[in-house]
Amino acid sequence: MKPLRIAILGAGPIGLEAALYAATLGHEVTVLEKGRVGENLTRWGHVTLFSPWRMNHTPLGKRVLEGTGVRHWPADESYQTGFELLRSYLLPLSVSPPLRNRILEQHQVLAIGKDHLLKGEKIANASRLDSPFRILARNPSGERLFRADRILDTTGTYGCPNRLGSGGIPATGETAAHDRVSYELDDPLGRDRERYAGKRTLLVGCGYSAATSMKAMRRLAEEATGTSVLWVTRSTENHPYPILLDDPLPGRAALVEEANRIASGGAGGIQRLPGREVESIRPLEDGSLEVHLGSAKGEERHLVDRILANVGYQPDRALYAELQIHECYASSGPMKLAAALLSQGTADCLSVGGQGAEALLNPEPGFFILGSKSYGRNSTFLLRAGFEQVRDAFRLIQGRSDLDLFVSTETIPA
Ligand SMILES: Cc1cc2nc3c(=O)[nH]c(=O)nc-3n(C[C@H](O)[C@H](O)[C@H](O)COP(=O)(O)OP(=O)(O)OC[C@H]3O[C@@H](n4cnc5c(N)ncnc54)[C@H](O)[C@@H]3O)c2cc1C
Repeated sequence: MKPLRIAILGAGPIGLEAALYAATLGHEVTVLEKGRVGENLTRWGHVTLFSPWRMNHTPLGKRVLEGTGVRHWPADESYQTGFELLRSYLLPLSVSPPLRNRILEQHQVLAIGKDHLLKGEKIANASRLDSPFRILARNPSGERLFRADRILDTTGTYGCPNRLGSGGIPATGETAAHDRVSYELDDPLGRDRERYAGKRTLLVGCGYSAATSMKAMRRLAEEATGTSVLWVTRSTENHPYPILLDDPLPGRAALVEEANRIASGGAGGIQRLPGREVESIRPLEDGSLEVHLGSAKGEERHLVDRILANVGYQPDRALYAELQIHECYASSGPMKLAAALLSQGTADCLSVGGQGAEALLNPEPGFFILGSKSYGRNSTFLLRAGFEQVRDAFRLIQGRSDLDLFVSTETIPA
């Protein structure tokens, strides 16, 4: 097979593995990264992953780094923070021989199209592949156009947080209050301590991110007097987090247990407000926020200093608006994969198995959405699933259903 121009969008953990795979196969790889390598990971780098090291790397990545002289690895069952994973694995990979000079940082992809071909033309026709992809990107010196034969979109979802109002749209006044609302995994015990210590915070959400924030805020409330949290959940369940029997991920089990304990009984400085949704937010002159919450019992008013909205993320679909992508109307993920995930119907990301190469196909030939973005708004993505997708995508690209660089040690020329 003749080497292809393969563009990987995003240098997160899955983008890097995809780039490594493509380079090992002899393709001409370019990685376009909006920020720095592992950009999103650095934004929640203080958080300890609940999957152990053995699930967070690939044999291919390990082999490449061993080839550069790396001899010491974390224990298989040890747990790293995001920063540790970045330092020990992702950054070394990004400068390893196969990827050296292939990653263009500070290159934000703005839009993707096809040379001389519009969205509505040659519908779902393989001949669309005859026309290369056009990728418009912006870097600090201006705009730049790239062309590629295949694209792997691994831009994640962390950059597109959901809004916190009822029904998923912004609450009235939310947009104007943006400088006092955080949508990420802030670090109240470290980098972001000043934002929260001694302050009154409204925490919104009931997923693992909200549980992680609440755990940190509980500790901060013990350390810094005057710290308090109002925890708003739509759920009215006493124990809103589903308990997975014999959860093989002890970090997750402990988080769920703590979150449920606080949800049902509260904790020093934390008060839960179940069955509520945010209706409106109004910045007041003294710097505080007036928040109105709606519930079955009516509306109530609270005064807080800051809002921590951990209400999930969604894919940036604007990037491929001019391509033929079949999206799921509920999750906004690519349709085939979304249907496969829905049919598995589980809240446990560990039991979400590989969906197979077919699930990665779109009407747009040669365009693959991988990594956390491929799950759309579904938050059950694990790195392990992304590594399988990388292998599956290259089986399709190479036309070899037995290809697996994660088990074989061969370097296969394209
Ligand atoms: C707090 C937290 C904890 C998690 N814990 C675990 C865990 O324990 N185990 C596990 O397996 N998974 C975990 N995950 C889920 C998932 O594995 C991570 O989100 C992981 O980072 C996803 O990797 P990714 O490469 O798909 O996307 P990301 O890491 O989000 O990388 C996407 C990259 O694309 C770049 N990008 C975005 N837009 C553009 C653009 N327009 N142009 C160019 N570049 C762009 C970003 O800057 C970023 O570098 C966790 C997620 C979070 C948020």
